[in-house]
Amino acid sequence: MSFLSDRVKSVKPSVTLAITAKAKAMKAEGIDLIGLGAGEPDFDTPDNINKVAIDAINAGFTKYTAVSGTDELKKAVIHRTKEDCGIEYHPENILISCGGKHSIYNLFQAVINPGDEVIIPAPYWVSYPDMVLLAGGLPVIVDCAEAQGFKMTAEQLKNSITDKTKLVIVNSPSNPTGAAYSEDELRAIAEVAVKNKILILSDEIYNRMTYGGFKATSIASLSEEVKALTMVTNGVSKTYSMPGWRIGYMAGNADIIKAMSKIQGQSTSNPTSISQAASVEALEGDQTAVAEMAAEFEKRKEYIVERLNNIEGVRCLNPQGAFYVFPNMSAYFGKSYSGGKIEDSASLTTYLLEKAKVAVVPGGAFGADEHVRLSYATSMDNIKKGIDRIEEALKAL
Ligand code: GLU
Repeated sequence: MSFLSDRVKSVKPSVTLAITAKAKAMKAEGIDLIGLGAGEPDFDTPDNINKVAIDAINAGFTKYTAVSGTDELKKAVIHRTKEDCGIEYHPENILISCGGKHSIYNLFQAVINPGDEVIIPAPYWVSYPDMVLLAGGLPVIVDCAEAQGFKMTAEQLKNSITDKTKLVIVNSPSNPTGAAYSEDELRAIAEVAVKNKILILSDEIYNRMTYGGFKATSIASLSEEVKALTMVTNGVSKTYSMPGWRIGYMAGNADIIKAMSKIQGQSTSNPTSISQAASVEALEGDQTAVAEMAAEFEKRKEYIVERLNNIEGVRCLNPQGAFYVFPNMSAYFGKSYSGGKIEDSASLTTYLLEKAKVAVVPGGAFGADEHVRLSYATSMDNIKKGIDRIEEALKAL
């Protein structure tokens, strides 16, 4: 007999978190493992941010805050969003949550009715479809293959809309591909959304990590009409190397923000007071570390893309942002080794973990089974070793 709800049975565990946990456990056992799975920056949180958190503890800033976040942090979010994206918001447009992930979860709970459809371009971040299912909605996956740069066209969006469509997700720069939409591409997508009156979730968590002079555009900045339909999410985890602090936020329509805040008030209450204090410093304080980290990521990206493309049977697009590459390794499907056969991205990932002792994430988890995701949010030394091992293991097949 199972006591579990149908709702929880309809979703899968997060593959990214499962692989990150497995890699950490193998390392703790003393196994010489190279982790290219985790989507978390390897840098320490900058000192100025840590100091504010310690001061907050010493000053007794350890009680509940307003459910939707402190006034100071909302102001800091408004300031940063204006500076980086050129969009004006007011405090009633902002919700602070326990990570960007929590903001997205709250949004889906607030706007999705049973049977509502949510358009998700694939490759997609692992948690979008499952969070839609948890809200009773139907994920509508739109295949945006490598040949189209992993990006959805306005035509594809138009053809996927039905009278049940509630929302479309735009994630630029993208996890897992690193692909980012140009302003023109976003404008074409926005036009379709406006015409059909559907909401847009713009996940901009990687907007400060862009390369080769590319600057991320927020779809909400395109016009007042688009802004009215767009919920923008971001957070401090990636930009300031603060994934464990759990602070993310959403900006958009005040009624939707209020509804999300109600859900938060009946579930988690406020995000951690100390993390909120530190996040004010992250968003308002010295931004030098952000550019330094992005410059380091760019060097690693250049290296990893070149190395991967030099491996026979591997093809890797050069991303504009984030800290992932998403090479196609399907040339190795059908090959056998002593322990089994490579049939898909999951078995390839198992092979690389067991034989090469390198952790990567199978593309199947992101809706693109011919690929695997490698995170370069780790040292150059680890990246070199990891790619050497992958190259050797693939050659042995
Ligand atoms: N977003 C990161 C990743 O994709 C963190 C793990 C998660 O929440 O999925 O690896």
